[in-house]
Amino acid sequence: MASQGSMLTTLKRIVQEMSQIPALDEALFNVASRVKQVMQVDSCSIYLADYDNQEFILKATDGLHPDAVEQVRIGFSEGLIGLVGQREEPLNIEDAHRHPRFKHYPEVHEENYKAFLGTPIIHQRKVLGVITMQQAKMRFFSEDEEAFLVTLAAQLALEISNAEIRGALSSNDILPSTLHQKKVMGIAGSPGLAIGHGFSTDSTVDLRRFVVKRTDDRSQEVQRYRKAVEITREQVDELSNSLEEGIPDDVKAIFQLYHHLLDANSLGREVEAKIQEQWCAGSSLKMVVEDYAARFANMDDPYMQERAIDIVDLSNRILVNILHQARGERPQVTLADKASILVAEEVSATMLAEFPREHLKGIISIRGSNNSHAAILARAMGIPAVMGCQNVSPTLLENKEILLDGYSGEIIIGADNAIRQSFVQLIEEEALLAEQIASEANKACETEDGCRMSLLINAGLSVEIETVARNQGKGIGLYRTEIPFMLRESFPSEKEQIKLYSEVLRCVPEQQVTMRTLDVGGDKPLPYFPINEENPFLGWRGVRLTLDHPEIFLVQIRAMLKASLGLSNLQIMLPMISSVNEVQEASRLIEQAFFEVSEEIKDTGETLVRPRIGVMLEVPSVLYLLPQLARHVDFFSVGSNDLTQYLLAVDRNNTRVAALYNSYHPAVLSALYDIVRQSDAHKIPVTVCGEIAGEPGGAILLLGMGYRRLSMNAHNIGKINWVIRNVNLKESKNLLACALTAQTHQEVYAHINDYLEQKGLGGLIRAGS
Ligand code: PEP
Ligand code: MG
Repeated sequence: MASQGSMLTTLKRIVQEMSQIPALDEALFNVASRVKQVMQVDSCSIYLADYDNQEFILKATDGLHPDAVEQVRIGFSEGLIGLVGQREEPLNIEDAHRHPRFKHYPEVHEENYKAFLGTPIIHQRKVLGVITMQQAKMRFFSEDEEAFLVTLAAQLALEISNAEIRGALSSNDILPSTLHQKKVMGIAGSPGLAIGHGFSTDSTVDLRRFVVKRTDDRSQEVQRYRKAVEITREQVDELSNSLEEGIPDDVKAIFQLYHHLLDANSLGREVEAKIQEQWCAGSSLKMVVEDYAARFANMDDPYMQERAIDIVDLSNRILVNILHQARGERPQVTLADKASILVAEEVSATMLAEFPREHLKGIISIRGSNNSHAAILARAMGIPAVMGCQNVSPTLLENKEILLDGYSGEIIIGADNAIRQSFVQLIEEEALLAEQIASEANKACETEDGCRMSLLINAGLSVEIETVARNQGKGIGLYRTEIPFMLRESFPSEKEQIKLYSEVLRCVPEQQVTMRTLDVGGDKPLPYFPINEENPFLGWRGVRLTLDHPEIFLVQIRAMLKASLGLSNLQIMLPMISSVNEVQEASRLIEQAFFEVSEEIKDTGETLVRPRIGVMLEVPSVLYLLPQLARHVDFFSVGSNDLTQYLLAVDRNNTRVAALYNSYHPAVLSALYDIVRQSDAHKIPVTVCGEIAGEPGGAILLLGMGYRRLSMNAHNIGKINWVIRNVNLKESKNLLACALTAQTHQEVYAHINDYLEQKGLGGLIRAGS
């Protein structure tokens, strides 16, 4: 048996090789035979689950009879393979033939094998298959051997699930006439239904996710590759020229490496050889580069290991240029001309800002989760979105018709006619309901039994919102200042900020406007101020960052104050407050800015009104500090998005734990209830500005708790107004009582859904009227 270190290397190699072989069957065979060889066993076999027929199919083997592949099918509750699947754990048996569950399959010819080790291949709690090792000798497999197989199976699971989905989608590429409908489940990111053609932007090109394809036209592919390299070389030159003198040696070394790789004798020769084997330019590049990267990554020297990243980075640039040329033949305008679904690794604010709004019907983000800022942005724009679609790559969805259900998180590619028809019908019903809601949007927000609610607007995400605020005369409960910072190439100057804030404050001069100080960090990076942290959501975020940079904070406060000259509607809100010190320090800086601005304007005759100061309640520590905080601030605003993340210890941006992130968790609801009671007791006005306030069920629960001020994106205002006018306070309190005593968030949902259906409001939380 190999040593620990070399075992790890072997494992990595096997998985890496697997990801490079495009056909799954071939890749699995390669795994089986490599395992057999390195573990020195007599047989290794891989079975994959077929859920439609409830059986495992032998997909690859080195050691059993090759004719048995695809022929041997073992029921989920049959034999040792079935047992491994059922128990979801490894099974290590000295003599398989004597095991009560042993079932003989003559096709495999395994008469000689006694020792048996089987391990389930599990991805996201689902058994995808079973991998086995067998040996003639009667013995138990060692702990090390078992550990190896378990580790390998965990990694295979990811590769298999990727390959399965890719396989299903790329077969559509080859045979457009026999399109098979394919459903992919992501995370519901923004409600609504959409139909459109997949559109991915260049910035999302990722060699690792590029799906290999064959080509018939080798000379065209060679030309494409050469041209792409030429363009990339120019871009790299431009980049290195733009860097100042005296750049560090390691950066210089990267550029030298780039140049070396771009040289025709280096990468070029190997890529062109692959093209001669009838792989398209992108595929050839992928194969060669992944091999290179693997070799670098396996080197002992950490510096050389790092270079693997540079190679992949450079290759992504080449790939973009290859794809550009390929697209050149397919006029870009046709894409921008029609209803599109934007597909990206990670949807950014810039991407949304640049996309022609009239064609943007839906959004698919490969990464992220329900409360990532990209999802919040999508909801604010009223665009249906599905997040965390990890098993597809943007290039695979490119130009395919997609049906997107933002309520359930499902996307359907190549839908059959019947499904498409009913989808179109549902979209029409939605539009009708939306029209009805809009027609009553100006009616007073009051429950059936006369309880008044104030609905405020969350702004800052797009200009449209300010227009809505002006039209509806609503106050702004949260103005997120970070988005304008994110869309720029450097920190905006005081003058630029004054202009921006002044427009917002003047939009609704009679209403309060709550401006939040810069809340970057976490999943809101500034391109010109990179922060690299292991745990960004627990790191340098919000007020923590701005207190460390008073020069940024003071400029922002001064800009807010100057923008408010002649008005009295500015309120300043501090994000990510976790202790009283932070409030004191921030208040001192605000006071300093107030003094400075007062001095500057003292001869102008203008008046500066002292703004009210408030804090976001979004870090759990403040739940136990409300009496102290109440002495320092004028208002509270509950950031339920972060409060949920920190209370449940679930990264709001992490797809893997997305199912655990839920603002309807009974613990989160109890915290929200506690906050409003304490705020009332201390006579501090409190608003909820997290996403839950703009959701039908959430708004009703908050009403029941005693909140009377909810702030939400402008898009939701009409809908929540409609909800409040159709429910009553007494019933909302009953619903709250059920929710607070529920065991799980699913139970809370069930109560909410029942109530909404009973009130004729079901069309607001699912497809159809
Ligand atoms: C929140 O955390 O609930 C909130 C409103 O702020 P953001 O989503 O911008 O972090
Ligand atoms: Mg927050």
